[in-house]
Amino acid sequence: MTRSESLFQRAKEIIPGGVNSPVRAFKSVGGTPPFIASGKGAWLTDVDGGHYIDYVGSWGPMIVGHAHPAVVAAIQEAAGKGSSFGAPTEAEVQLAEAIIACLPSMEMVRLVNSGTEATMSALRLARAASGRPCIVKFSGCYHGHSDSLLVEAGSGAATFGVPSSPGVSQATAQDTLTLPYNDLPAVEALLAARGAEIAALIVEPVAGNMGCVLPVPGYLSGLRRLCDQYGVLLIFDEVMTGFRVALGGAQALYEVRPDLTTLGKVIGGGLPVGAYGGSKALMQQISPAGPVYQAGTLSGNPLATAAGLATLAIIRQPDFYPTLERRTQRLTQGISRALSQAGIPHLGNHVGSMFGLFFSDQAQIVNFAEAAQSDLQRFNRWFHGMLQEGIYLAPSQFEAGFLSLAHDDTLIDRTIEAAQTVAKQL
Ligand SMILES: *Cc1c(COP(=O)(O)O)cnc(C)c1O
Repeated sequence: MTRSESLFQRAKEIIPGGVNSPVRAFKSVGGTPPFIASGKGAWLTDVDGGHYIDYVGSWGPMIVGHAHPAVVAAIQEAAGKGSSFGAPTEAEVQLAEAIIACLPSMEMVRLVNSGTEATMSALRLARAASGRPCIVKFSGCYHGHSDSLLVEAGSGAATFGVPSSPGVSQATAQDTLTLPYNDLPAVEALLAARGAEIAALIVEPVAGNMGCVLPVPGYLSGLRRLCDQYGVLLIFDEVMTGFRVALGGAQALYEVRPDLTTLGKVIGGGLPVGAYGGSKALMQQISPAGPVYQAGTLSGNPLATAAGLATLAIIRQPDFYPTLERRTQRLTQGISRALSQAGIPHLGNHVGSMFGLFFSDQAQIVNFAEAAQSDLQRFNRWFHGMLQEGIYLAPSQFEAGFLSLAHDDTLIDRTIEAAQTVAKQL
């Protein structure tokens, strides 16, 4: 038995499913997840001494690579000065200023501890500001695990929400309306019928939780127009895309200004941070400036803000995003070529350093229903084949992959060679 196998057995006795977040358990692909001992740059080392080139990057945060010296030094320095005070610190002001400088739609920002907290708090604010109860989300978009966002559509048109987890009450689910992604007429029809009940529409501006699905041209600007028409707040959940697809997030890339933005992942540089923000008029309603309550013992934590600031300092260097984008293109083109040569039908997408690969013979994939038709058996063979070759990909067809600054051309070419080998076995 490997050490990972024995740890997984022990873990399953005392932690539900053996993991502290479900997708880590390899449930959809099967097998035992390698338990990670350390990470450096683009590499992960497991407890059995296995090495992997990592394309998960902790599901997005590790954009400068694991254990980047500048980030490590910043965390160490902060830790030496005390790890939490429950009182304001200068680094919180600096991180807020750095965020606002990159995302001008955010005039004010509140730091929290996770993406889930950010979206949950943004919805509370939207409901308070509008006095309306309902929110609209899109099938296949993930916004964290708070009750009102754990809701899927019934089939076909918008229905009353159905909870996608036991423990979410029918009453909560009913206030969440779900529509297919990339379908403006469906949004228009719903807002025309029920706009006066709808506080906000929340969307991943590039969907990264159903694989990587891009907004079709005009989709995001269409959402903006419809929200304006019906007085509905537009929330971009940029927990994944913020500081990932561009320095200014998807809102800069697609030039659409949301009312509220939620952030997480990259802004914490690998430590737990989330954030939400928007116009001053909206954000002044948050306690203690206003009546909408939201708080956190560890919010704006000194270690987390230090890691976030150190990461932002690296990614704000001029050539950072073009370099990552070029390398991501090299990777996705190389993998696509390998699969084509082996005659494997597939669809690849990437934006900035976020990428996805569907094993599908469809001409395009624009929503969850289409993504769900991918060949999951083939994905599993691909996943395990690549892992065998030392390439660590997300263990699900419905997750995006990420590059970091540490993924240089040599590592990318090595990954493409692995893909050539694995493609022949699919
Ligand atoms: C990861 C993610 C979240 C949840 O963030 P956590 O920090 O895991 O709570 C919310 N929205 C999107 C788009 C995400 O990718």
